[in-house]
Amino acid sequence: MNRRILDQSSKLKDVLYEIRGSALAEADRLEADGHRVLKLNTGNPAIFGFEAPFQIVRDMIESVPNAHGYSDSRGILSARRAVVSRYEEVPGFPHVDPDDVCLGNGVSELITMTMQALLDEGDEVLIPAPDYPLWTAMTSLGGGKPVHYLCDATQGWEPDLDDIRSKVTPQTKAIVVINPNNPTGAVYSREVLEGIVQIARENSLLLLSDEIYDRILYDEATHIPLATLAPDLLCLTFNGLSKTYRVAGYRSGWLVITGPKAHAKGFLEGIQLLASTRLCPNVPAQFAVQAALSGVQSIEALIAPSGRLHEQRDAAWQGLESIPGVTCHKPEGALYAFPRLDPEVYDIHDDGKLVYDFLVAEHVLLVQGTGFNWPDPDHLRIVTLPEARVLTEAIERLGNFLSSYKQ
Ligand code: PLP
Repeated sequence: MNRRILDQSSKLKDVLYEIRGSALAEADRLEADGHRVLKLNTGNPAIFGFEAPFQIVRDMIESVPNAHGYSDSRGILSARRAVVSRYEEVPGFPHVDPDDVCLGNGVSELITMTMQALLDEGDEVLIPAPDYPLWTAMTSLGGGKPVHYLCDATQGWEPDLDDIRSKVTPQTKAIVVINPNNPTGAVYSREVLEGIVQIARENSLLLLSDEIYDRILYDEATHIPLATLAPDLLCLTFNGLSKTYRVAGYRSGWLVITGPKAHAKGFLEGIQLLASTRLCPNVPAQFAVQAALSGVQSIEALIAPSGRLHEQRDAAWQGLESIPGVTCHKPEGALYAFPRLDPEVYDIHDDGKLVYDFLVAEHVLLVQGTGFNWPDPDHLRIVTLPEARVLTEAIERLGNFLSSYKQ
């Protein structure tokens, strides 16, 4: 019998997600062979000993006997109301109604739905470089063209407004902002955010604001929700339980629509249509939303100067900065560091190979900067979730390993 060759769809041609790429497959192989591998590739708090907050688990367990049916496609009303209350407490956040909230199986699903509902062939979306690569991947899958605007390491990784301006074309439909940023840990200033909003205003761009790390802030950093600066523009704000509430495996997130909607009726109906076709998000996890947002599960203790996340951020940053030829912006938020390996010091042409070789040699899994759509092979991303001593040791091993790449 002649079997038809089943190749993957050409739609996936530009869909890349190196955070779980071929190096992870090798890490899994090493583990299967009995090696211990330190996986610093995903921002998954649970695997580094962060427990799920008790009240969230309890509410979810209690809900299970009554959570076996499909729910409203946008999510259960009590959870959407809890999301509304959350934003009512944010000074200057535009009015939100439960109908403006859509729950998803994590922010990931909502990003996918948004891009599928928005884009036609050739539509352009401005996305930061470096970025959380799902935004680029889902723009491509949706038929659009990702256009990367540069964030500037010498300016604390803030988006370069001139670069953004120069990349707007008549085809540009939306701009993605990831703040606090994965992978750089940058938290953007009011001036830069206002600049982005102004460019969106002048060019009639949709604002897509990924704020999943908005409560994971260090030192004096303040997060300014983009929607507060743009009440006159359509803005979709994305957030969820994975990071702040450390329950990434529950797959629970939301998007909130603010600003004028009349001109975007078709697009918003498209999101509703796609929400319906996936029937509904996982229902038990929706019951976790209200418990989480009631405020008892604060992350404050973890990000305070004596807190675990803060100490780990410090340990990672200090360790990286102490490697000759490595510089790193001190993360002001989120769960990552994004060090630069000076090309004058290190001879690296393929950062994916560097990650692979480091994994095989030292059994530590990182992700290469180009996996975040950074154009040059001179950055790495490190997750700052393990305990400080584990991070310090892993980074020391990185320093030793890198010495063989010195020019
Ligand atoms: N957005 C950013 C910036 C992220 O870093 C992540 C996960 O790491 C996500 C979205 C996806 O989150 P979720 O677990 O809610 O799908």
